[in-house]
Amino acid sequence: MEETNKEFLFKVLVIGDLGVGKTSIIKRYVHQMFSHNYRATIGVDFALKVIPWNEDTLVRLQLWDIAGQERFGNMTRVYYKEAVGAFVVYDITRSSTFEAVMKWKHDIDEKVYLPGGLPLPVVLLANKCDSIGTGEDKMLADHLHSYCKENGFLSWFYTSAKENVNIDEAARFLVGHILSNK
Ligand code: GDP
Ligand code: MG
Repeated sequence: MEETNKEFLFKVLVIGDLGVGKTSIIKRYVHQMFSHNYRATIGVDFALKVIPWNEDTLVRLQLWDIAGQERFGNMTRVYYKEAVGAFVVYDITRSSTFEAVMKWKHDIDEKVYLPGGLPLPVVLLANKCDSIGTGEDKMLADHLHSYCKENGFLSWFYTSAKENVNIDEAARFLVGHILSNK
């Protein structure tokens, strides 16, 4: 039998306001760790996660941490270049970070496209879900569902870097989508 070994390298952006948990999500996903003592990331920072997708497909996921640029408002095109997907993260305990979600989405849509000219697949991460109760949970879920439909997000996930909730699932979802267009 013939073997088909496929390898992909995908650049995926992780963006959103300062303090929403971008670095924590990446650290949890790639290094299986979490820390309360955080230092703002400075400069461009990226991490590599190798995903044995199935028997004949290997995915190298390069996660680009926005790395302190959130303070300056405008990300450069250079940073977004050749990305094939993105996570926009907000902090469910701070509504201002949700208001910024559209700003980030527009910024991506303006500055980067897939090779065919299509917009980048973007997944919304409602992070710090360990910090809210189940009643609030349900209301937010209904809202996020329609929000994503209306605003061109592929999907959304509650995540917690602290308690390791849904980060693998969100990554699998986005990678699965990227692969389906290959
Ligand atoms: P960034 O600026 O978006 O990279 O955010 P950081 O990853 O540096 O996180 C900012 C703060 O939020 C840190 O004190 C983290 O410990 C905390 N944090 C990040 N993710 C979570 C989470 O899922 N739950 C809780 N409770 N705190 C979190
Ligand atoms: Mg950071």
